[in-house]
Amino acid sequence: MTNVTNFRFEVDADGIALATWDMPGRSMNVITPEVMGELEQIIEKVAGDEAIKGCVITSGKEAFSGGADLTMLQGLGAEYGRLAKEKGEETAMQFFFEESRKLSLLYRRLETSGKPFAAAVHGVCLGGAFELALACHFRVLSDVDSTRVGLPEVKVGLFPGAGGTQRVARLMQTGDALQMLFKGEQIRPLMARNMGLVHAVAPRDAIVQTARDWIKQGGSAVAPWDQKGYKLPSNKVYSAAGMQIWPPANAIYRRETQDNYPAIRAILESVYQGLQLPMDLALKVESRWFAKILRSKEAAAMIRTLFISMQDLNKGARRPKDVPPSSLKKVGVVGAGFMGASVAYVTANAGLNVVLIDRDIEAAEKGKAHSHKLMSDQIMKGRAKTADRDALLSRIKASADYGDLADCDLVIEAVFEDPKVKAEVIGKVEAAIRPDCIFASNTSTLPISGLAKQSKRPDQFIGIHFFSPVEKMMLVEIIMGKETGDKALATALDYVRLIKKTPIVVNDSRGFFANRCVLAYILEGHLMFTEGLPAAMIEQAGKQAGMPVGPLSLNDEVGVDLGLKILRATKAQLGETSIVPEQEELLTTLVEKEGRLGRKNRKGFYDYPEGGQKRLWPGLTDLQAKHVEAELVDMQELKQRLLVTQALEAARTFEEGVITDPREADVGSILGFGFAPYTGGALSYIDFMGAKAFVDLCRSLQAKHGDRFAPPRILLDMAASGDTFYGRAGAKKAA
Ligand code: NAD
Repeated sequence: MTNVTNFRFEVDADGIALATWDMPGRSMNVITPEVMGELEQIIEKVAGDEAIKGCVITSGKEAFSGGADLTMLQGLGAEYGRLAKEKGEETAMQFFFEESRKLSLLYRRLETSGKPFAAAVHGVCLGGAFELALACHFRVLSDVDSTRVGLPEVKVGLFPGAGGTQRVARLMQTGDALQMLFKGEQIRPLMARNMGLVHAVAPRDAIVQTARDWIKQGGSAVAPWDQKGYKLPSNKVYSAAGMQIWPPANAIYRRETQDNYPAIRAILESVYQGLQLPMDLALKVESRWFAKILRSKEAAAMIRTLFISMQDLNKGARRPKDVPPSSLKKVGVVGAGFMGASVAYVTANAGLNVVLIDRDIEAAEKGKAHSHKLMSDQIMKGRAKTADRDALLSRIKASADYGDLADCDLVIEAVFEDPKVKAEVIGKVEAAIRPDCIFASNTSTLPISGLAKQSKRPDQFIGIHFFSPVEKMMLVEIIMGKETGDKALATALDYVRLIKKTPIVVNDSRGFFANRCVLAYILEGHLMFTEGLPAAMIEQAGKQAGMPVGPLSLNDEVGVDLGLKILRATKAQLGETSIVPEQEELLTTLVEKEGRLGRKNRKGFYDYPEGGQKRLWPGLTDLQAKHVEAELVDMQELKQRLLVTQALEAARTFEEGVITDPREADVGSILGFGFAPYTGGALSYIDFMGAKAFVDLCRSLQAKHGDRFAPPRILLDMAASGDTFYGRAGAKKAA
């Protein structure tokens, strides 16, 4: 073998080869063209050398591998575009098909090389890397908790195109296989063994030996599906058993995706067609779908936002470079209520010490008890040990004494949303903390620059806006006040990185970024309701558009009363014209006449019966002055209204300089409020449609539904110049 640098290759006295994948200068192995070339050499060496009985593949790193280099796949798309222009669509397509199936062919060569291959896996082994393991004839996983296998490609709009769909569907019942492929979840070792994905689980330092022993004891070099008499786990597609599976599979696909995700549809097609064919042809079918999906705009949008941009933001794309890394050790959280208690938990969970303060020690202890409960739940699920809970709780000091904040590096306040209470707390905290300590507010509605007026050091004052539930929501908005300085920004970003969430940096404005867009979504739902549309159709339109929940349901979650409170505060500050009267009337009736506050009192747009499923409140129709016949409703338009209104708000935040980087709008919109992920986010939705088409759509909605759909200047300019948000951002960076 010549020049193999990404693997170490050795053969032991029994003639068993060990290929240790360990890419120099990288913390994680990824599949690159070089790795593919070297793997090919290894396969040919093992296949061709009579002295070698078989080969174990393992990793020299803490993890096995995260899979293929997605930027390599992005590059393929660019090459396709170039070839299509220069040599025509057919040549480009041919090139694309051949290139995009190289990995699949390589794995098939390994599987049919005539020598047994075994994968010994420790740590994460995902995507193309797990497809490598699946092509091996034997798989053993370490029993360590961090070990995970899975095929998460669907999460970035792709699907497993290197044999994954075919091998998984031949290893387990079709229904289970489809579920695994649709969801793309990471699977723990014992679960993987129970599902039949791997053959064995062993202690970490025994995995290579287990794999070797399997080869030594005559492990077969023929995959089950290449053996004579192999039977599919769910029998043939066209059989009585198959008919139990496929019709519901189509329905489940529709229910789960609303047909918005071509990659998931491609999984369904690949498995359905592939299971009717012998392996080599089945792989070819999978490759054809893969080539098609790789060129889809959904894949391009999702790879860009959910992989590349998210990684950039997580790595600190917005962090001021010249501020040295902060050494955060102790964080103060003031206000141990709903939000503060959770902020204390995620902070302590990241290994930081926390001082949790409330008005009295009982309230502070109550906030700390939240961490006890969360950890106890983890213990019940077998995900943590009692010692972990003890250690985490020992890092949280509940207190009513502001003096305990003296040695904190950062203090986050989450007290009542009342400027007077906030002002008092700011004064008390600043009297107690070190001069270099950063102060952050978790306010969701009060402008940071206004609060900073209460501070003696506004350059050290910043917003760190969490979303609820804090434990689950991955987004954190960092809000820059007018005078916020670089050190405060760097510290806030370092903190968000430590607690493993994704930050976006926004400039001060009412509602910041995420809540502005969310409110637009909810408003549109309310207006559809007051127009007389059936509530069920409004909710369904939200889901079909790709939102996680309908707008009325979302309003119930945040609280119908909170919606009314925000609306009234806006009216008080910005005047009558800043709100929509129909919305105020609807919310006033719901809250003040009907006492329907949302999920919190089990009565909102929905009823929430104890122990039962929520359902739309039958009294809703009585609140509608008119009713539109369901048959006359244009669902497509409802879907458009619900997405366009959010995208427009996102564009306005960009125009106003609240958001300055389209990556943050896109990542923020998906992580913050679940904006239809297949679009790549609220601004990518506009970019992929094209500003001109988007402006035309806005105009037609404006003519029918009013000026809230009027496109702002920035979009008119983009429509005229043919520009995109990303194009403009790129040009600005280059200038
Ligand atoms: P909450 O009422 O549950 O908690 C507030 C806590 O602050 C209470 O425990 C209260 O005792 C304590 N407190 C009040 N005055 C205090 C003082 N002077 N000193 C110390 N403690 C004091 O409220 P919450 O929902 O947790 O909201 C807190 C903040 O977080 C608000 O600014 C809110 O806008 C913001 N926020 C809330 C959400 C949400 O979904 N609830 C989301 C994002 C941000």
